[in-house]
Amino acid sequence: MAKDPVCGMNVDEKKTTQKAQHQGKTFYFCSAGCKASFEKEPARYAK
Ligand SMILES: [Zn+2]
Repeated sequence: MAKDPVCGMNVDEKKTTQKAQHQGKTFYFCSAGCKASFEKEPARYAK
C-alpha cells in the first residue's frame, strides 16, 4: 500500500489511476481531488 500524501489515506497503488510524479518519486492518491491539491503545491506534500 502507498500513502496518499494529501489526506493520509492508504492507497492501493495497483488499483488507483490517480498518480503523479514529483522529483523522481511517484505519489498515489485516493481521488482526483487529492491529486489536484498535490499538483497545485507539490512541495507542500512531498516529504
Ligand atoms: Zn486522498
